[in-house]
Amino acid sequence: MPIKDDPRKPRRFSFGNLFLPIAGLIFAANIFLPSLLGPQIQRVPYSLFIDQVNDGEVSRVSVGQNEIRYQLRGETGQEDVVPGQVLSTTPIFDMELPQRLEEHGIEFAAMPPPKNRWFTTLLGWVIPPLIFVGLFQLFANRGGGGPQGAMSFTRSKAKVYVEGGDTKVTFGDVAGVEEAKAELTEIVDFLKMPERYNAIGARIPKGVLLVGPPGTGKTLMAKAVAGEAGVPFFSISGSEFVELFVGAGASRVRDLFEQAKKKAPCIIFIDELDAIGKSRASSGMFGGNDEREQTLNQLLTEMDGFAAGDATVIVLAATNRPETLDAALLRPGRFDRQVLVDRPDLSGRQEILSIYAQKVKLSEGVDLKAIATRTPGFAGADLANLVNEAALLAARGNRTTVDQADFNEAIERVVAGLEKKSRVLNEQEKTIVAYHEVGHALVGALMPGGSKVAKISIVPRGMAALGYTLQLPTEDRFLMNQAELNGQIATLLGGRAAEEVVFNSITTGAANDLQRATDLAERMVTTYGMSRVLGPLAYEKGGGNSFLGQEAMNPRRQVSDETAKAIDEEVKDIVETAHHQALDILRNNRELLETIAQQILDTEVIEGDKLQELLSQASLPEPVAA
Ligand code: ADP
Ligand code: MG
Ligand code: ZN
Repeated sequence: MPIKDDPRKPRRFSFGNLFLPIAGLIFAANIFLPSLLGPQIQRVPYSLFIDQVNDGEVSRVSVGQNEIRYQLRGETGQEDVVPGQVLSTTPIFDMELPQRLEEHGIEFAAMPPPKNRWFTTLLGWVIPPLIFVGLFQLFANRGGGGPQGAMSFTRSKAKVYVEGGDTKVTFGDVAGVEEAKAELTEIVDFLKMPERYNAIGARIPKGVLLVGPPGTGKTLMAKAVAGEAGVPFFSISGSEFVELFVGAGASRVRDLFEQAKKKAPCIIFIDELDAIGKSRASSGMFGGNDEREQTLNQLLTEMDGFAAGDATVIVLAATNRPETLDAALLRPGRFDRQVLVDRPDLSGRQEILSIYAQKVKLSEGVDLKAIATRTPGFAGADLANLVNEAALLAARGNRTTVDQADFNEAIERVVAGLEKKSRVLNEQEKTIVAYHEVGHALVGALMPGGSKVAKISIVPRGMAALGYTLQLPTEDRFLMNQAELNGQIATLLGGRAAEEVVFNSITTGAANDLQRATDLAERMVTTYGMSRVLGPLAYEKGGGNSFLGQEAMNPRRQVSDETAKAIDEEVKDIVETAHHQALDILRNNRELLETIAQQILDTEVIEGDKLQELLSQASLPEPVAA
């Protein structure tokens, strides 16, 4: 919810259509004026000049870049020259000239700077760039660039959000991020009464970095801080800084801070800070990005520039990848405060849901807590989207209020992408998908850590999943033990294992499952220290690293080749073991697998009590795999 966009348009040059003709005239004048204004000096060929030098007729010489002027002696024997006359010639590249002049005892010096010609000289310097800019402007306009066009010479694009008005964002609009709110309340205080803090000598923080996954409300939070404090809010996104022209980013930063200082106390908000603040080391491999680096340096300079007690300008920035930021940004006096804006927990989700539920008409008996329970991992933006989806469903169904059923369907939509009625699987594909999904469900039902399976469906959704198995954790989990993680890996491999057991062949449908299973296994070994061979060491550096634009999610600590090999072997071992557990379970429940799969092929979906009843018949193979 942007509050109010600054109506000011970016300033641009507007000489209009007269610009070019006028520039042309001045340019022409620039060329002809020197000959009109300057003293009339006869030009002679260089060869004549050299002859005269050799004949001893020259008394003085001034050597310029483009011109040599010289004066003849007062008393020459020649008739065809005027004694004392000043002549001019155009120099050629002649290394021996000084030596030659010296030999003949001629006084010589560099040409003095031209007098009386400042006007034309000035024009010579000023006009060509102006014409260039004018032409540029012309093309930019032709290209229909508009204020947002790549070629427009604009001032800072920082949007100004003004406080007040009915669209003011406050902390009341942000829910489920209580710790962050508490920390930022302090910032609001600073902004409201800077004198109180200054009087006591407390240093007001300059930079606060909001860190958290996408959609958790970082942008919203920053606006709320401005709204609560009642100060102007300048916002700009890091990706906007990455401009075409070298220097544009840096000047924009300068401009932004200039504008802000005039309006202090206020907030500057830099969204997507990682777009400019990427670590210089990580991008240095291929020469780095000069433009980004300049912008970053300017930002650092500006942040160092305004001292505490000066204008109260607080810089908030947001990123979902703090680990990629240049260390220089995080030093004291810069973004030295970090506030975590994390995904909301159960009660947080319920609060966010109730904020958005107020905006739609709910049927009686809609249980927001139940919805919150079913949506672990949802960020604020997902929940806002969920409520809207539910309302859309109700409207499409011609209902006047939103039911629980609408929410249930909306959850599935948000989770698995929109239902694609048009996409049809052929009979054979459908069969394979059915067994695959039942495979996940059966293994999940028996392994520890596998959450309760609520629904199995072979209706394709979105692009990635062919069918899907909806698992519902009954509570938010913060800690998982090794057995549970192993169980999850086995569950992920259950789909592929079912294909192997039933069809004795493998399809491409399990790619995503395998990816997730392998990632999980790797984390067990490198992050959680769950490997007996490698011990309780963290081999992972904790955070992403940018290499060629691709994200290696788990950059490893520098390890020896043997350790790297051992990690790979351990990961493989964990996945293989889980794979065999899945195979054992499915072989042990071969008939049940068949029954459930056939039912799904009939109805496309199984859920609720019917599913629970079927799954409860599953049994672990002997001896118990764990
Ligand atoms: P981020 O900047 O962290 O990616 P945004 O602030 O842009 O996330 O969130 C996008 C939208 O999602 C917000 O405008 C708001 O409607 C909703 N939203 C996200 N988090 C929350 C929250 N904690 N409370 C209420 N609404 C939220
Ligand atoms: Mg954002
Ligand atoms: Zn699968």
